[in-house]
Amino acid sequence: MSSSDEEGSGEEYLFKIVIIGDSAVGKSNLLSRYARNEFSAHSKATIGVEFQTQSMEIDGKEVKAQIWDTAGQERFRAVTSAYYRGAVGALIVYDITRRTTFDSVGRWLDELKTHSDTTMARMLVGNKCDLENIRDVSVEEGKSLAEAEGLFFMETSALDSTNVNKAFELVIREIYSNVS
Ligand code: GDP
Ligand code: MG
Repeated sequence: MSSSDEEGSGEEYLFKIVIIGDSAVGKSNLLSRYARNEFSAHSKATIGVEFQTQSMEIDGKEVKAQIWDTAGQERFRAVTSAYYRGAVGALIVYDITRRTTFDSVGRWLDELKTHSDTTMARMLVGNKCDLENIRDVSVEEGKSLAEAEGLFFMETSALDSTNVNKAFELVIREIYSNVS
């Protein structure tokens, strides 16, 4: 989505990005790390659907990402179509220390396909890579699933910040190149 601006460089972009994946994989912390540089050891169930906006500059233009986080409804497999509506990017997150969350990725991709009516920039994210000692899904497995499904791939840590900005920025740049 783009609209002309009255002043400045002329164009302004606003992209909706959704974060999906099983409960407790670190979705909310990835967003708070990216948008506010904050991490919380104790997850709080948020009430209502929430998003945060973060801007970056590409080609001298201001690009705003409106990033949506679930309010914990993924626990009940009840993420609504309103959540996905208008999204042009998605992060599909699993926890590298819990294989069941990796096994769920296919289901999340199906859900994404059901609800999307446009080209989406999609990235598979293996979060909690700081917990190498209790890793349950190898980097190779993540990579090959991403390749098979045509997704970007990155391992991240919302705890120590590894690759968090990179992951979001890559998705935002990809969306930008899809529309510009
Ligand atoms: P969500 O349910 O997917 O939104 O997950 P949360 O962001 O609420 O995180 C669930 C739990 O995992 C919380 O206790 C977080 O502190 C923890 N967590 C999230 N990201 C990381 C990470 O990168 N590394 C580690 N070690 N813990 C994390
Ligand atoms: Mg959450």
